[in-house]
Amino acid sequence: MPESESYKKEYSWNLDFAVNLGDVHRRFFEGLEEKQMVGNECPECGNVFIPPQPHCDECLVETTGWRETDGHGVIDSYVVTYFKFRNMPDPPYVTAAIRVGESETSMLHFVGGIDYDDGEELMEKVETGMDVAPVWSDDRDGSIEDIEYFEPVE
Ligand SMILES: [Zn+2]
Repeated sequence: MPESESYKKEYSWNLDFAVNLGDVHRRFFEGLEEKQMVGNECPECGNVFIPPQPHCDECLVETTGWRETDGHGVIDSYVVTYFKFRNMPDPPYVTAAIRVGESETSMLHFVGGIDYDDGEELMEKVETGMDVAPVWSDDRDGSIEDIEYFEPVE
């Protein structure tokens, strides 16, 4: 028996938990219900953060100045997933780091609206720098799932 198999252990986690999001993130999730992606900015350096964050990473000051966007963004990087993970869609699918509006930071979400039938060609259908827009769920409740996915736009 190879050594790696002899040390193989299987575990399962199934946790229910609640998190206090605070006022900054609460405003972001409330915006999703209205098909808006809200961000904020640093009063010192002017960096914009979408989703918003309580403090600027560089200046270490509280962020201010709310920004409202329609969620259009650009793909900074992406991953094509070919393996099945629990609580995730059937593969293949694409997840991407998307920089929304004039944000300095990116957020992770699914990329859809493309033909997933030929998984081998997915790497050619998605590219960094591609413009994308959110596809909103009809049943929004102030969660990240209010955005079904981001789709490429011309
Ligand atoms: Zn700053």
